[in-house]
Amino acid sequence: MLVCEHCAASYPTEKPRWRCDCGGTLMLESPARFDLAALRERASNLWPNLWRYADALPVPIADAVTLGEGATPLLPLAGAWGDAHFKLDFMMPTGSFKDRGSAVMVSQLKRWGLTEIIENSSGNAGVSVAAYCARANIDAHIFVPAHASIGKTAQIALHGARLSPIQGTREDVTAAALNAAQATFYAGHSWSPYFIHGVKTLAFELWEQLEFRAPDAVIVPVGNGSLVLGCCLGFNELRNAGMIDRLPCLIAVQAARCAPLARAWQQWMDVPVPVNKENTMAEGIAIAAPIKGRAILAAVRETNGLFVTVAESEIFNALKIMAKIGLYIEPTSAVAPAALIKLREQGEIDPAASVVVELTGSGLKSSEKISEMLGAEVAGGT
Ligand SMILES: [Zn+2]
Repeated sequence: MLVCEHCAASYPTEKPRWRCDCGGTLMLESPARFDLAALRERASNLWPNLWRYADALPVPIADAVTLGEGATPLLPLAGAWGDAHFKLDFMMPTGSFKDRGSAVMVSQLKRWGLTEIIENSSGNAGVSVAAYCARANIDAHIFVPAHASIGKTAQIALHGARLSPIQGTREDVTAAALNAAQATFYAGHSWSPYFIHGVKTLAFELWEQLEFRAPDAVIVPVGNGSLVLGCCLGFNELRNAGMIDRLPCLIAVQAARCAPLARAWQQWMDVPVPVNKENTMAEGIAIAAPIKGRAILAAVRETNGLFVTVAESEIFNALKIMAKIGLYIEPTSAVAPAALIKLREQGEIDPAASVVVELTGSGLKSSEKISEMLGAEVAGGT
């Protein structure tokens, strides 16, 4: 059942739908079961991917459109941040955590019999949706900002998607996509209730990799909030099934230059604060008006979590620290370790707490931008 988060209208899942008739976002109510014995035994003959949680997914495994996503490493690392586990979600088929969401979302698009869809993304989600649509033999038309990384747009084009670069803001890109969606089904990942159900497998994997326990805190970047909402959903499903007894704190990180949710948090508001977006190296989370802002703020509150903002210098510093221990992540991903370093310095995390840092995207797609950042640093004499 698809249920409107605004007016509570409900719709069956048999027909394609991406929003309520009232314009509200939809959530998907779907049962989740966990077979602990099967997971422990790993008796299944499946590849170790996220479909091992098929009992908790809204798409039957027989209909799965998969590229082998999920089951990414969880690496314990000590450093300037103390002890923490780093979830290497950049080691996905298309180089970002978005593959969790795309696998489930595109599987449903295929079940609906769609042969053509529209999506809009600054890069990683567009890449991911293009790849899974290629796998599913669905024509994808992806709208991206004209300034998106060439490493991402080249990949989208090579997967066979039609690419429409749009001048202007991220919001202009969304408007162009929605306009085109009057004729073709809109599969925007920020709207899709199925996408969140794919992302929630991050929570399941952390639980399984930590010996079937939830960590004390999970640090994630937040723009449109699929990681916050996916983790909140996933850990809630585990709790409701009796697999864990409490939710981990979700620590949501925004770039200080575009922080509508963190500003709302500081002001005790339950909707995003309008901001004038400035240019940030964390382009993947530079969302001035997140569609599900109210739900994201509520999710962080529900988990006793918090919002953190990080400055450009802190993001760049964390990017370099991670690279120097061998992890080449993209600048957007670096906001999470930057937040951990900051919170540890401020003594805001219990030294004994088990903390997971989600590393969302590979640096390989952003090498051109990283190279520019290094060049600017040298030119600046720092
Ligand atoms: Zn509605």
